[in-house]
Amino acid sequence: MKEAKQIVEEYCVTKGEKFRLKDYDPADTNGVKSKKHAESILQRRVGLLSDMQEKLYAQDRWALLLIFQAMDAAGKDGAIKHVMSGVNPQGCDVFSFKSPSSEELDHDYLWRTHKCTPSRGKIGIFNRSYYEEVLVVRVHPPFLRAQKLPNDLITKHIWDQRYEDINAFERYLTRNGVVIRKFFLNVSKEEQKKRFLERLEDPKKNWKFSMADVQERAFWKDYQEAYEEMIQHTATKHAPWYVIPADNKWFTRLAIASAIIETLDELDLSFPDVDEEKKKELQAVRASLLSQKD
Ligand code: ATP
Ligand code: MG
Repeated sequence: MKEAKQIVEEYCVTKGEKFRLKDYDPADTNGVKSKKHAESILQRRVGLLSDMQEKLYAQDRWALLLIFQAMDAAGKDGAIKHVMSGVNPQGCDVFSFKSPSSEELDHDYLWRTHKCTPSRGKIGIFNRSYYEEVLVVRVHPPFLRAQKLPNDLITKHIWDQRYEDINAFERYLTRNGVVIRKFFLNVSKEEQKKRFLERLEDPKKNWKFSMADVQERAFWKDYQEAYEEMIQHTATKHAPWYVIPADNKWFTRLAIASAIIETLDELDLSFPDVDEEKKKELQAVRASLLSQKD
């Protein structure tokens, strides 16, 4: 497992104060030279992940919450699909958080996500999350106004308050056995342009193209600042941010799989022990089954 740690350690942020996005290269591959090499390691890791998830499920104590945030076309969906491909679907739930509905806007902003946190033994994946509340909502002030908060509560402290509440929420989940790992897929502006062009030019990718995504690109700088500040305030030891290079999809997937494996490995998972009484019961049932004629 040492290898998994080596691949991903340098992207893991557990203390945000000094975090600067410019120190992280979206095209980095941490010495992994080719797509082919990455894919062969990934294939083995996906198998390992499947074994670990089975134990997580059997043990029924810990839950794992994986949060994915990124600019459009950074590869969130593909990464989730590939990394979780070997995992038993019964032990895993994926939730995508889009623009909030009117019912959701009638509640506090953690309401819709708290309902979706994983139960014991399970892996929960958030494709976007409550972090949108300090990203898109910050970049576009009309979204904050749409939240119908009492006017007195909208002050210049609102973003600091949100960081504080998110940290408290994550600490609460952690204290209840939900292990949290957060991934920011760090794609460059040039690579995003390339991927948008592919969506326009390749008929098989046309369906993925969205006008809204191109419009958001105009706010690139605002988003980068919002991401940087978000990581500065919400990277903690128990709920770290992984700033994953996302210009090479094959490396993104390998790094995410490695982070998840390392996390599960630290939990020291094992199949639950069966006590003496239960063992006797199992032996008796076995003997009974063997003695039956048909
Ligand atoms: P895809 O890969 O399918 O494009 P996506 O996550 O980009 O996936 P979309 O339906 O394209 O899904 O976009 C969802 C939109 O909802 C995003 O622009 C996101 O910023 C927005 N959104 C998510 N949460 C909130 C929120 N709390 N307030 C306002 N907008 C939000
Ligand atoms: Mg989209």
